[in-house]
Amino acid sequence: MASLSPPPSLNETYSGIPLNLLEKAKSAKFKVYENLTKTIATRKGLALPPGISKNALLSALDELATQVGQEHVQLNDQPLDDGWYMEHPNTHDAFSLLDEESLIASAIVYPGSTEEVQTVVKWANVHKIPIYPISMGRNLGYGGAAPRVRGSVVLDLGKRMNAILDINPNDCTCLLEPGVSFYALYEAIQARGYKHLWIDCPDLGGGSVLGNTIDRGVGYTPYGDHWAQHAGLEVVLPTGEVIRTGMGAMAGSNTWQAFPYGFGPTSDGMFSQSNMGIVTKMGMTLMPNPGGHKSYMYTFEREEDLPLLIDIIRPLRIANILENVAQLKYYIQEVAALGNPRSKYYKGKGQTPEDVLRREAEKLPCGKCTWIYYGTAYGPEHIRKHKLELIHSEFMSIPNAKKIDPSTIPKSHYFWARDRISSGTPDLQELDWLNWVPNGAHCFFSPISPTNGKDAQKLLAIARKRHTQFGIDLFPAFCIGLREMHLIINMVYDRSDSSSKRAAYECMRAMIDDAAKEGYGEYRTHLVFQDQVAQTYGWNNGALMKFNERIKDALDPNGILAPGRCGIWPKAYKYRGLQLGVGQPGPDKDSGEGITEEPGKLLAAKL
Ligand SMILES: Cc1cc2nc3c(=O)[nH]c(=O)nc-3n(C[C@H](O)[C@H](O)[C@H](O)COP(=O)(O)OP(=O)(O)OC[C@H]3O[C@@H](n4cnc5c(N)ncnc54)[C@H](O)[C@@H]3O)c2cc1C
Repeated sequence: MASLSPPPSLNETYSGIPLNLLEKAKSAKFKVYENLTKTIATRKGLALPPGISKNALLSALDELATQVGQEHVQLNDQPLDDGWYMEHPNTHDAFSLLDEESLIASAIVYPGSTEEVQTVVKWANVHKIPIYPISMGRNLGYGGAAPRVRGSVVLDLGKRMNAILDINPNDCTCLLEPGVSFYALYEAIQARGYKHLWIDCPDLGGGSVLGNTIDRGVGYTPYGDHWAQHAGLEVVLPTGEVIRTGMGAMAGSNTWQAFPYGFGPTSDGMFSQSNMGIVTKMGMTLMPNPGGHKSYMYTFEREEDLPLLIDIIRPLRIANILENVAQLKYYIQEVAALGNPRSKYYKGKGQTPEDVLRREAEKLPCGKCTWIYYGTAYGPEHIRKHKLELIHSEFMSIPNAKKIDPSTIPKSHYFWARDRISSGTPDLQELDWLNWVPNGAHCFFSPISPTNGKDAQKLLAIARKRHTQFGIDLFPAFCIGLREMHLIINMVYDRSDSSSKRAAYECMRAMIDDAAKEGYGEYRTHLVFQDQVAQTYGWNNGALMKFNERIKDALDPNGILAPGRCGIWPKAYKYRGLQLGVGQPGPDKDSGEGITEEPGKLLAAKL
């Protein structure tokens, strides 16, 4: 273990860790590798795109290499190394739920400019080879860097397109290429001395600002709804043309990042969680430093406090007294956030017994409790004071509620990582709970519901029933937006163990269906559940999907761009049996896809 190389720093690579987090990253890496028993398997074979022979693929890639440079085209024929968060693969999903060779790239291409992205798109149309864009490829929990169709050529945009094109300190906006991480943007703002600018970041800062935003990711300051903060896109369409949205459609525009709509229909939404275009530039608004902040933590003793608490939160959140996408976590997460394997507390199989978890949680700063609210108030002290008093009197109306004094919380505690994130300083500590099981991987169950006590209870009951059925520890967190909640459940599984993967996979499928029956839909999901989730948005005989498919077929007649992403299948791929978890395979099964929904089993005959 002593021989582990240090994670690459931001000085060395665009995707690296800032120097001030290097020690933390070293220790996170150490914990991951200490918990690792999975070995790197010999490859079963090169993944081919559906209907493309090996010779055809190799000769098309040779041609591509002459157009963008040999060194920028890489065959994916080496063993698949999952790495870890800071040294993640761009060839596959490091947290694979199916067989790890199921959803993998045949090759990776690294375009260096919008023009080169156009070149790749035109090449894909000539050869009818599916391509799949990633910005940083750290979409862990939602599919990582994996393409939806096995054998697609992954366009890794971040490696060579990672410039911060503009930071406007007056308008508080920026313009970014795909490879700019939250870490990199934060560091650039500090380096330029713009103390009055904040960024908003997710739990971990290594993702691409652009990739996260177009996947509608969330962060934890008042600017936490990233898509709502974007302002202007540059997009390469699936047939190779380039457009700019909003004010960017004017030649010589001077307000591209200042006014998101421009004139006429707003087309930006078509490029978010979609396969209608490749985003090569994105504008983003930045939050002005509010002049101070204070994080706080309240605990609530009983499981049954949940509905009342949520009903108290709703008006406070809508009125912006609770100002950020705050989190209501379960006591189990306090234990998991310590970063220890659960075997430290319990060595049996199935769910960890409640008494074990409660006993461990009681030893922590949260003490004896069931729910923990992490929040932050913003502004100078005299402004915060009024809001904090209101919050205090509302929360303390719940019997046995407690405010935890931050001065009693050790500096290494998760509370302080949340404090940094909620004030726009990216961190890394959130990785810790992944160590709960050996070879820890996770996927998110993330349904949207009204901010309503009854709904919170109903969703929690669905999740509890299925987690109990499949023997998985339950990690729920309610993330409260303005008028809705995301219930985010992190399902942690052992990615080297097919029964653990199978349990997570089936549990997720069951929860998606159960939730949909009650009117709750996922805001985002892992690649392998996208067909199923898309189908739950089926009002009026699937009218929305029919509309999406018409647009897709019009924009992408050869269906080359990320076919199947978010359940949108172009004509060319529709009846090839590629959908997962829904319906029956279509008549043409000779897809070359070769995947099965059996974790650990790949259709060997297709390789
Ligand atoms: C412990 C843990 C905690 C996490 N917490 C959060 C959190 O708080 N909030 C959150 O939002 N996420 C969270 N995530 C999920 C994920 O890590 C982040 O959302 C991350 O930012 C996504 O990866 P990325 O930015 O590298 O995007 P990418 O992987 O590059 O992109 C995501 C997807 O968008 C599409 N895409 C990317 N770039 C383009 C492009 N240029 N054009 C067209 N399509 C494109 C692709 O389909 C791609 O698969 C967490 C993950 C882990 C492991």
